[in-house]
Amino acid sequence: MRMRSLTPTLFLVTAACGGALRLPESKVPVCVEPSVARTAWQNPLSHLAVATGEPVHSGEDVVIQPGAAVTLAGKFAYGPTSKDLEYEAVTAFLEDDPAGCSWSRLDTVLTDSDGRATVQVPGGALTAPGMYQFRFVVHGDQSEATARVWVVEPGTKAVLFDIDGTLTRADLELVGDAVVFTVGSSSELLFELAGSPLSRTQWMFGLERVVNEPQAHEGAFELAHRWASQGYLPIYVTGRPYLFDAITRRWLDEHLPAGPLFLTHGVEESMPSGVVAYKRDTITHLSAVGIEFEAAYGNAATDVCAYAEAGLDPSATYIIGELGGTACPGYGPTQAVESYPEHMASMPY
Ligand SMILES: [Mg+2]
Repeated sequence: MRMRSLTPTLFLVTAACGGALRLPESKVPVCVEPSVARTAWQNPLSHLAVATGEPVHSGEDVVIQPGAAVTLAGKFAYGPTSKDLEYEAVTAFLEDDPAGCSWSRLDTVLTDSDGRATVQVPGGALTAPGMYQFRFVVHGDQSEATARVWVVEPGTKAVLFDIDGTLTRADLELVGDAVVFTVGSSSELLFELAGSPLSRTQWMFGLERVVNEPQAHEGAFELAHRWASQGYLPIYVTGRPYLFDAITRRWLDEHLPAGPLFLTHGVEESMPSGVVAYKRDTITHLSAVGIEFEAAYGNAATDVCAYAEAGLDPSATYIIGELGGTACPGYGPTQAVESYPEHMASMPY
């Protein structure tokens, strides 16, 4: 009995030592997360930036055609005042293919005086359609900015979504120098942003009330998932400023189908006067890349005009709330959405 039980053990050890042991076909790849060695800050002022609070880094999603060159961009800042990290080393990493989990290390570059860094990916690198994550890692503290390159075939069908007031019930709008938080017909001054840094209390209040776990319109998540299940790529274009990037991505990942996300680059673009141009230009660029929008969802007058001016069909523009059915001057009327469950009942899918 004793000898017989030893035999299989001996065989396995021999096989392993001889290098003949084979992994089963269903092996799970071990994903190695990209990292850099932590090094001292290069800029003596960086300690001050880091002392203002948690990282509020952001990366910019990009949509390209297969094989196109692409610029990866990140913005690096800390704390509720979005204090820029200037002249510090960051290294960019890019996923090798949409399905896998292996990463290529790209360049190491310095952030500029605005806390921004870019790395070029030459043409021919990203050929297979799909989503490629990229990541910038800050050498001084190993904090990260993450975003995605979306490689799409020309003619890719998509559906456009605004976030605040459209997917969520609350709208976040910048008026003058202040962020105004609107629920229904009531609005309150939330916090000051432009030229007047937020206090930590204001910042936390804003995150808690507006961004962190906003209440969604009934059926909003189901609506986006229904479009995605029919093969449409959801694209999220929001007037939220970049410093809400990480928290917005977490919320989208938790509740909504994956799709490119575009936030404004600064306070000026977030203003009502700037957000029309920002959204119009973003949509126009996406159309130029070959995205074909089947429908667009919004809630604000800025959505009505941005979508129309970008060439989207107002009769396929669905506006929830009191502005439903209104038109941008010179364009046809939009569709009014009373509620998403009602709207979905009229959808062909
Ligand atoms: Mg909105």
